[in-house]
Amino acid sequence: MSAIKEKVLVIGASGQIGVELTLALRKIYGGANVIAADLREENDLLKGSGPYVSLDIMNKEMLHVLILRQNITQIYLLAAILSATGEKNPNLAWHLNMQGLLNVLDIAREENLHKVYWPSSIAVFGPTSPKQNCPQQTIIEPTTVYGISKYAGEFWCNYYFNRYGVDVRSLRYPGLISYKSAPGGGTTDYAVEIYHDALEEKSYESFLSEDTYLPMMYMPDAIRATIELMEAPKEKIKVRTSYNLSGMSFSPKEIAASIQKHIPEFTISYKPDSRQAIADSWPQSIDDSVARNDWGWKPEFDLNGMTEDMLKNLTAGK
Ligand code: NAD
Repeated sequence: MSAIKEKVLVIGASGQIGVELTLALRKIYGGANVIAADLREENDLLKGSGPYVSLDIMNKEMLHVLILRQNITQIYLLAAILSATGEKNPNLAWHLNMQGLLNVLDIAREENLHKVYWPSSIAVFGPTSPKQNCPQQTIIEPTTVYGISKYAGEFWCNYYFNRYGVDVRSLRYPGLISYKSAPGGGTTDYAVEIYHDALEEKSYESFLSEDTYLPMMYMPDAIRATIELMEAPKEKIKVRTSYNLSGMSFSPKEIAASIQKHIPEFTISYKPDSRQAIADSWPQSIDDSVARNDWGWKPEFDLNGMTEDMLKNLTAGK
């Protein structure tokens, strides 16, 4: 099996997605064959499961040396500055999100790496994109620096595939909800915080208004989608910018109602902040039929299934 020969580097491994993706990849390739790298310290959940290196994605030379020394064949690039944090420092967000990707794509081309994974986001869509069932190909005019960097990144991926044959694959993740690692400064972070506060405080103040619908996905589905995309035969990957990916769509009011089924005394209040404008610029739901047709994507979790699993796991972790 070719999987045995692979040596994988996960950059941004201590982040919300990185922790769970690294653990999942270590199950497939073996702990020693998946190197976790991040600017910040190793996440506790990764400790003891495989090698960890401290790495700044902006240091291309160090990255190149690491890839050669470790005989890396695949890279998962997760290091980025997310939507809400990006608006606080647009220059840094643009610089990191773009240069980090270009560093990886360049080295992948020079060293003929087998595969690269880089996530895009629903943030590529803007106020002029369709709000409901936003299709794969549509008007795309992002208004956040994060969305601009993701959209430009998608075209760099497409360019490196077409011009140099780099097998780079990508998904436009919706807001991701997880109980293992904390979210990293996105507009959909409320949907993680609400579960913690429901258990600890029995109340939550939402920074988005009650009827703000956004596309969301439970982390196990996102990890499975990522691995299924990367394991799909090359000829099935027909979109080389980034695939639309959909799990569920709900509002703060609806997630509160699904929590109240388990915690009847839970209450929610609303105090929208600057993140409301970002949320309002994004679609409410996503059409991922192209991913379903090309490589067989199918989500498993709906809102109530996710709520049950989140509350069960958060309670068990206390
Ligand atoms: P996160 O902020 O939780 O994690 C990112 C990690 O990258 C952090 O651990 C951070 O320390 C690391 N990092 C930052 N700068 C670095 C640098 N210069 N060198 C090395 N490491 C660095 O983010 P996440 O939620 O895990 O997101 C991972 C990817 O998925 C990002 O590209 C993000 O845009 C994308 N995405 C996430 C979501 C979501 O809901 N979480 C949704 C859509 C897309």
